[in-house]
Amino acid sequence: MALVTKKLRGTEDVLPAESYRWQFLEEIMREQARVYGFSEIRTPVFENTQLFKRSVGETTDVVQKEMYTFDTKGGESVTLRPEGTAGAARALLEHGVYNDGLPVKASYFVSCYRYEKPQAGRLREFHQFGLEVYGTSKPVADAELICAAASIFERLGIDDLSLEINSIGCPECRKKYHAALKEYFASHEAELCDTCKGRLERNPMRILDCKSKICSGIAKDAPVILDYLCEECEEHFKGVKACLDSAGMKYTVNPRIVRGLDYYTKTVFEFVSGSIGSQSTVCGGGRYDGLIEELGGQPLPSLGFALGMERLLLLLDSKGIEIPKPEACALYVAALGESAEAKAFTLVKDLRDASLHAQYDIVGRGLKAQMKYANKIGALYSLVIGDNEIEENKANLKNMTTGEQVEVTLGEDFVSQFTAIYLDGKTGSPV
Ligand code: ATP
Ligand code: MG
Repeated sequence: MALVTKKLRGTEDVLPAESYRWQFLEEIMREQARVYGFSEIRTPVFENTQLFKRSVGETTDVVQKEMYTFDTKGGESVTLRPEGTAGAARALLEHGVYNDGLPVKASYFVSCYRYEKPQAGRLREFHQFGLEVYGTSKPVADAELICAAASIFERLGIDDLSLEINSIGCPECRKKYHAALKEYFASHEAELCDTCKGRLERNPMRILDCKSKICSGIAKDAPVILDYLCEECEEHFKGVKACLDSAGMKYTVNPRIVRGLDYYTKTVFEFVSGSIGSQSTVCGGGRYDGLIEELGGQPLPSLGFALGMERLLLLLDSKGIEIPKPEACALYVAALGESAEAKAFTLVKDLRDASLHAQYDIVGRGLKAQMKYANKIGALYSLVIGDNEIEENKANLKNMTTGEQVEVTLGEDFVSQFTAIYLDGKTGSPV
């Protein structure tokens, strides 16, 4: 039978046998978010298109080429979120959360949608974990945010990501810098791609982030923003570096980082890997001091980062870092005959009520096939019950690793008997 359809290009399924890998990463991220003082925010998958145009920026690749935008039946233009910050900022603003005391620290897990050319580490639906801090302009906040990201990599045992930082200044520094960039790129105008030709007038900094080989080749020799920082931005950048130094964080200053979204100001940073090919930025972030005002709020200095889950998984694979498998089934109860089946059902329910992972046959297999299945799922113990066992109210509990057996009773204290044996086995003295 032919399938009606298959998954769309650039999308991935996470199957039941693999999802523990995602859950493990999410758990570490949740824990690090908690110790750094962040609480989760959840926002809709789609928003008014205007939100992303205003925040991400009209001249970015994301807005110009990559957004999934469509008109609803009501005639509204909506867009599937291409990133997580805009929705979080919109929601916090809309609900007046910024009035309840600053800073506001929010974390998020989001699926994102960008119509890009699919390749390893580049999907059309991908997932990000992110942290956002609103209401502080202090350099220590930038350093704290970077440390929070680094703490996740550290907990995962990843030690070869390089942290690259830069400052891309404020609108004040940009005036002079834009003029210098325009002059430089104007002398190469004929060679630039069509998109970048259009950016020359409106936003020449975007040319620095163009993925076309020719444009990025030209951009290599372009003036760098660090030479154009105003005093305040210069001081801020110094402050960030000093905090990172005092935290013992290693970094390199890469004056070529500009980030792909328009809302960034001052600090920008990336965690880059040398082992996952050309989609090498696992995590990117920085400051966006103008974003909240752009969205209609009071000026509110803010910052954040987003970490690509798929790229992180690729990185773990490439480094051979294994993610611990979830706990196997503690007990498989195999049953033969109607009354044994009924007993298996209640025994397993009692075990589950005591928070133990237990299973039995729900598809109608014979005894041999049930045991084969118990092996397949890696059950730690098994119990076979038939008419005799029911009659005597006793059965043999088998340790599937050692083959050792011990008699247990099937009455009310079955769960406590099993729990004692199971916990004993876990601490290294199997039955
Ligand atoms: P790139 O330069 O690789 O396109 P970006 O600057 O567009 O990245 P951001 O918008 O800052 O990336 O998103 C933060 C992180 O999200 C990236 O560092 C990456 O890990 C991940 N990411 C971005 N786009 C994709 C994608 N299409 N597929 C998978 N992950 C992505
Ligand atoms: Mg991109």
